[in-house]
Amino acid sequence: MYDIIIVGAGPAGLTAAIYGRRASKKVLVLEAKSYGGQIINTLDIENYPAESHISGFDFATQLYNQAKDLGAEIIFEKVVEIKNEKEKEVITTKNKYLGKTIILATGSENRKLNLEKENDLVGKGISYCATCDGAFYKNKNVAVVGGGNTALEDALYLTDLANKVYLIHRRDEFRGEESTLNLLKMKDNIEFIYNSNVTKLNASEKLESIEVTNKDGSTKKIDVDGLFVAVGRIPENENFAKLINLDNSGYIIAGEDCNTNVPGIFVAGDNRTKEVRQLVTATSDGAIAATSAIKYINNNCNEK
Ligand code: NAP
Repeated sequence: MYDIIIVGAGPAGLTAAIYGRRASKKVLVLEAKSYGGQIINTLDIENYPAESHISGFDFATQLYNQAKDLGAEIIFEKVVEIKNEKEKEVITTKNKYLGKTIILATGSENRKLNLEKENDLVGKGISYCATCDGAFYKNKNVAVVGGGNTALEDALYLTDLANKVYLIHRRDEFRGEESTLNLLKMKDNIEFIYNSNVTKLNASEKLESIEVTNKDGSTKKIDVDGLFVAVGRIPENENFAKLINLDNSGYIIAGEDCNTNVPGIFVAGDNRTKEVRQLVTATSDGAIAATSAIKYINNNCNEK
């Protein structure tokens, strides 16, 4: 029986593990992929307090080591279900674990365009991470699709590497920050394509061109070697939906206290309803959720 079982080893989950261990609780972290969550793909973090420059990989590795050194058990298994019957049970593809409390810190995954061949072309022209894969497209022609901060930042990053960057957005205004957009507009190798969607991927072995359809119905073919998909993220909560209340977009409904509708089950990070999804708010959630879990254990589980 663990005191706290944390699902997800991103910044929120690992911070929760640190807080749990510092309160001498028995902590298990379960992670389906690799530690670090989405921050591991960030080239340079500039907005974390007191860290003016650190790579996402270094940040995540330090956090992982900190949690491990404090005694958190970290196991790489995919959680497929949680139960709240006599005891709180976390079921993975391999095992079952019992916990007095659970913290759900699963973050979110890339939204796809859901185009034919999209999955097959990942690594052969389709990418969801410019900082990870941008270097493969040095002096080539690429497109970025999306209108948020990720798309703007990806496009900006790629203008320094690629020969030409097309930024394709389905509306005529961006939701990303104006300051990034202004930097982008100063580049001479960017072309903005508004009111348009990518509607087809043309490829034999690898991506060769894309079809772009404007709202007015007209289409054009653009020759590109790479397409960077930056159309937002989807919270990874589907395995908890039977038990935990989600909003219409699939986020776990919770306030700043990180409580879910089930006593003793908490949520931390990007997979909960919130205004600002940033590294600093994820780690903040981790601290709050762990503190809430510790309080819950002290008030409800003293006999165990
Ligand atoms: P986002 O803000 O949700 O933007 C997603 C974009 O993709 C939107 O412009 C949306 O269009 C478009 N889109 C969604 N589905 C689409 C589809 N099927 N086809 C075509 N376009 C589609 O996602 P994000 O840019 O990944 O950012 C996520 C969060 O992280 C945001 O809160 C963002 O501010 C934050 N973030 C912050 C930083 C930073 O502070 N440095 C960097 C990156 C991300 P519409 O605009 O028409 O809805």
